This record gives sequence, structure tokens and C-alpha cells, in this order.
Amino acid sequence: MDTLKRYTEKRSFDRTPEPAPSSAPRPHDASAPSFCVQRHHASHLHYDLRLEWDGALLSWAVPKGPSLDPSVKRLAMRVEDHPIEYAKFEGSIPDGEYGAGTVMVWDLGTWIPDEPRVDRSLRRGELKFTLDGRKLTGSWVLVRTRRGPPGSSGRAAWLLIKHRDAAASTHDVETARPRSVISNRTLASIARASGGNVEKAAAADPPAGRTRTPAGPRRTPARTAVPARRARR
Ligand code: MN
Repeated sequence: MDTLKRYTEKRSFDRTPEPAPSSAPRPHDASAPSFCVQRHHASHLHYDLRLEWDGALLSWAVPKGPSLDPSVKRLAMRVEDHPIEYAKFEGSIPDGEYGAGTVMVWDLGTWIPDEPRVDRSLRRGELKFTLDGRKLTGSWVLVRTRRGPPGSSGRAAWLLIKHRDAAASTHDVETARPRSVISNRTLASIARASGGNVEKAAAADPPAGRTRTPAGPRRTPARTAVPARRARR
């Protein structure tokens, strides 16, 4: 489990609710490894793409989140591998701890690499894969643009790009489908339930005004004065 050494070194498991790596490596179903995308409001809101491989989750922090538009390239910083259990972690990392802030499971599913030798693809800096999630599907690629510090896979810069296929679109999936796929909660409600910073989390949820009608008192006299017959059209 050497791959999880950096994950363990960065965290104090008596203070963070994040899962400690289990002592026994779990055999995974090689035909359908899991993937997740977590919305994480740490110092900045970002999305963490995690692909299960070889007993751990290969991880990239994507500041703007995945885009379904093939013409949009999203920066993805490679970060430390995470334990398999992390894919279903939702909650609040306390202030003062690494990655302090609220985490949501924004998407979850399975993935398949186009080329079975994933380690070789990572070394070469081009990983093509297909996602089968609740929000993200179809063909994608991660392309490395800058290597990280010598001897480390972490902090290398990659680009996450959607391939042209039936799942490609210009739809803003982050805004249209902001809720958790495992609890249907917003970041604010996850923060509230787990003792996190509700105000900070709420600032990262899309404005309620986009999905809800403004409350009565916000209506202007001019609008309420529109004749009833015309208003009904
Ligand atoms: Mn993160």
C-alpha cells in the first residue's frame, strides 16, 4: 500500500472523518473499476476526479470541474492516490486539517481504460478512458502537460478533455446537476449535517434563484399590477 503513503502522511485520522486506508488491500473487480467525482469546497471550490486502479484511487483535482464540451480543456492537477473507501466519502473536514471544507460525492460509477496498461499510459502522459456514471458518461482523455517534482506522480499538470461522442454537449452539468448522487444533498446541507461551515458551503451551491421562483415579498408593484388576463398568457 505504498501508493497511499502520501495520503496517510497528510492526515490525522483522529481529527478528520476521512477514511484511513484499510490494512488489507482489497481485490477489485478488474472488469469494472469504480470512479467518482467529488465536489470539494476547500480553500477554493474544485472537483476531484478519482479512478480506481490497482487497489487505490488515482486522483486529479480539477479546479473548474469536468466539461462535456470537447472544445474545453480543463486543468487537472494530479494529487496523491486515495484509498478505495474514499469514493463514497461525504462530509466536512475540520478547519486546520488538510483539505478543510465540505466534500460531496458529485458523481459515481465505473470506468474502463481504452488501453489496459494504465501504468504505461500514466508514464506516457496520456490516459484515454470511458466513464459510466450518473452524470458523466462516454469517452474522455487526460493529457499531461507538465511533469511534477522528480520521483513523484503528484502535482503534475494534466488536461481533462471530453472526446466527441453522443455524450458530448455544451450543457453546464455542474450548474444543472449540483447535488450529491448518493444523498441528493447540496453542499450546504452536507455541511449542516456534519458540523461544517454552512455559510461557506452554501456559497459554492448554485444560486437558489435559478431553480426556484422568488418569494412573494420580492415581487415589484409593477409586476403585480399587470392585468390578470394578460398575465395568464
Ligand atoms: Mn480535493
